[in-house]
Amino acid sequence: MIIKNGNIVTNTGVIEKADVLINGNRFVAPGTVLQDETVIDASDLYVCPGFVDIHTHGGGSGDFMDAEADAFDNAIRFHSQSGTTSLVATSVTAPVEQITKMLSIVRQYKACPSLPCRILGAHIEGPYISLKHKGAQPEQFLRVPARDSYQFILDNRDCIKTVTIAPELDGAAEMTAALTKAGIVVCGGHDDGDKPSIMPVIEAGLSHCTHLWCTMSTVSMRDGVRNVGLCELGLTDDRLTVEFIADNHHITPDMVKLICKCKSADKLCIVSDCLRAGGMPVSDTLYILGRKQDAEAQRFLVSDGVARLPDGSRLAGSIQPLSQMIRNLVVDAGVPLHDAVTMASLTPAKIIGEDGRIGSIEVGKLADICILDHDLNVKMTITDGKIIYDTLRTQ
Ligand SMILES: [Zn+2]
Repeated sequence: MIIKNGNIVTNTGVIEKADVLINGNRFVAPGTVLQDETVIDASDLYVCPGFVDIHTHGGGSGDFMDAEADAFDNAIRFHSQSGTTSLVATSVTAPVEQITKMLSIVRQYKACPSLPCRILGAHIEGPYISLKHKGAQPEQFLRVPARDSYQFILDNRDCIKTVTIAPELDGAAEMTAALTKAGIVVCGGHDDGDKPSIMPVIEAGLSHCTHLWCTMSTVSMRDGVRNVGLCELGLTDDRLTVEFIADNHHITPDMVKLICKCKSADKLCIVSDCLRAGGMPVSDTLYILGRKQDAEAQRFLVSDGVARLPDGSRLAGSIQPLSQMIRNLVVDAGVPLHDAVTMASLTPAKIIGEDGRIGSIEVGKLADICILDHDLNVKMTITDGKIIYDTLRTQ
């Protein structure tokens, strides 16, 4: 396959009027004899690497915690039609049996050779989080590393990419060291820490911050002493990468400008944190947060383009895919397109150690592409060298 005359978006800029060659499921060098001679005219379009969403709960009516094929398939369809070609399925705080059930489905999908959107593994968000900053997560299932075993995480290391923990919890540093040693990326978030409680956990291996500013510790006064929180450490400590929900609600364009003054695109990534309501009817509709089979589950209400708890007291997650967030960054916050795309592709791939095979349009990598028009609408998605969404040639 050859994608001709497009504006190729790289992590350093846009290369105008260039071709991208795909053979089988890989990008190949110019001059390679191609098995498939399909030509796609990408004149006046942006050819981006497929997007990598390392924090999403679902979409298209499915939540990964439903732990059913239907839910996974619906979420995969929604995200792939939005240009996302790889994702990390994210859990919510729940009994360990429910999380391991979800992990068993993640393991099956991770082994599938050809999905419209690849499932790279799981992100465990909770139960090792702070009561104060639990956000929309149910408090009865919260756990503390020093008191409750996290062996189930180590036992499932083959399909867990990342775990979010609150660094101030008893035993957080020991847990971070053990998970890091097992090859799992430890993220700080949903926390109530301060610099003295967070630094030892960074020293132990914590390397990433989960949805900056959202249910995260910030500047506080304790015992007459002013202290920074994880938010400020995330923005200023070069060892840490940071993700944020660029939906213009959780993080507004002014907050994006501040984030981008502190860190460059190689340390920043955008995440959808998308709930099952992504791609669904959005006018004042109630949805279930987490597992749909759970009668007691938290509900959330979608209105004005965002999900909130039913009493309106707090945001509950987003309903936007990464492609829409790229548009928010570029149009509303003035971020250069190549930086916005890098935050949705190469940097998230690097954060989870997958940049050797995905995240950029480079010879040898898996052929994942999202083609955007001038208004940054998704026109085509190619995953693993296969066209899986196409409004370009069917117009
Ligand atoms: Zn989340």
